[in-house]
Amino acid sequence: MSDQTETDRDEREAFEAELLERREAALAHVVKFGDPVLKSAASPVSNFGPELRAEVERMIAIMRDGMGVGLAATQLGVLRRLLVFQAGSDGEPTAVINPQIEWSSDELSLAEEGCLSLPRVSMDVERPLHVRVSGRDVEGEAIEIEASGLEARVLQHEMDHLDGILILDRTTREQRKAALRALREGGSYSPSPEEHELVDEGELREPRTEA
Ligand code: ZN
Repeated sequence: MSDQTETDRDEREAFEAELLERREAALAHVVKFGDPVLKSAASPVSNFGPELRAEVERMIAIMRDGMGVGLAATQLGVLRRLLVFQAGSDGEPTAVINPQIEWSSDELSLAEEGCLSLPRVSMDVERPLHVRVSGRDVEGEAIEIEASGLEARVLQHEMDHLDGILILDRTTREQRKAALRALREGGSYSPSPEEHELVDEGELREPRTEA
């Protein structure tokens, strides 16, 4: 191996170690399974101003460093109807305040989801494939989002958090039972064990199957 290759490798390893460290620091802010706040319904936001802007910035930073694709205020222990999401690496992080589902498709999609609040477990969740969500942006302006696929899934997952609903409440009895056992015992669970190594990679995984 040439010195250059070795230097490149060392630099890459140092970079990856730094990312991992930053991720752990971000995830330390996220409320985990067992905290009753995760089962609580959040209240509508009524004050739009610098405080809200700062909160949104904090959430986007934690989502980014945590390598998640979405985060609800509930997950930081803040019971306000506020979420951020970023579906796809080229997407801009977007905040939605007081989000509401205006329409959802009859067509459903099944995919394996993880959650930053439920470490090391993932489970199959079926959700509408398309949704239209209304809400406000950080300035208080009305917005409407048409979303499909992963983006629609993330929005629904985060909106569930605002109602105190977790993916544990959206999966099959068998998977819920297995995931709960893993969470209590500090183990891990995935309905597709052959991909176990990949579980710890963010809030959600790419859809495995779409029907
Ligand atoms: Zn979650």
